[in-house]
Amino acid sequence: MEGYLIATWKMAFEGVKKGQDLIRQGGTIHKAIMEAVKTVEDDPSYHSVGYGGLPNLEGEVELDAAYMDGDTLGFGAIMGVKNLKNPIEVAYDLCHYKRNCVLAAAGAEAYARKGGYPFSPMLTEEAEERYKAQEKNVDTEKLEAYGGHDTVCIIGRLGDTSACGVSTSGLFMKLPGRVGDSPIIGSGCYADSEVGAAAATGVGEDIMKGCLSFAIVEKIRAGIPVQQACEQALGEHIARLERSGHKPGSMSVIAMDRDHHVGAATNKKAFPFVVGTMDGETVLFAAVNEGGNMSVICPDEAWIQAYQGD
Ligand code: ASP
Repeated sequence: MEGYLIATWKMAFEGVKKGQDLIRQGGTIHKAIMEAVKTVEDDPSYHSVGYGGLPNLEGEVELDAAYMDGDTLGFGAIMGVKNLKNPIEVAYDLCHYKRNCVLAAAGAEAYARKGGYPFSPMLTEEAEERYKAQEKNVDTEKLEAYGGHDTVCIIGRLGDTSACGVSTSGLFMKLPGRVGDSPIIGSGCYADSEVGAAAATGVGEDIMKGCLSFAIVEKIRAGIPVQQACEQALGEHIARLERSGHKPGSMSVIAMDRDHHVGAATNKKAFPFVVGTMDGETVLFAAVNEGGNMSVICPDEAWIQAYQGD
């Protein structure tokens, strides 16, 4: 399978479509990725990204985002930011710098304000209701990705350039200040135009332990086909976690090599992802994991209707 764009979760469908329109109109891959991420950030019906994201243990929405340009290896990220409308814009801005390109909390907010990026309240009524209904005495050691409502990761390749952008509100009921994999280079995403790019979604603490996105890119660099690279990197990491006595949380990955071939893998039963194909189609796929055997399906209408997540 080949594409210009590949994205995590069904929720990225409209964004990928818009990104493809921009590519058709002559836009850069960066423009396409940014548009795709922002479309998800702006939609309040998605509970894990931008406006509508679910809050932390104190009821506040804290956002993480990252962007990597595979030409320059420029990486920009912000973490633990409140009330910033489009975190991905600031992450992209920061990827152009050689120093001070990863900013946290108050420093990131100050940078965004100075740059004129829009701020607005990010907690929707629906997210607040979900927070109020939630038992506050949660065991923070047992947090999981909220019912499959996870990080949006968009990978793209156009000409000789690979890039990726990710944005998330992180785990629901996380401790204030908790940072997941998404804004950590090589964990939430990695891009190298000489090779391709990879990105991850799921329980950040587990993804980070394997630097999973970097691990996939390195397998592709070593000549392993992209689908196998995804499956192997995830499988080996899960096996390693299990050997350490650790029960891995959910983890799903996507990747695209320099020839636009795409791959995806998951340790969940099913992981929907979206591909913006080379002939202009936007197609929903799902990586399906049956007892460790991975396959990629093109879900039918009944599957889509039955799917509960974002
Ligand atoms: N990876 C994100 C985090 O741990 C959350 C997710 O993708 O569900 O913050």
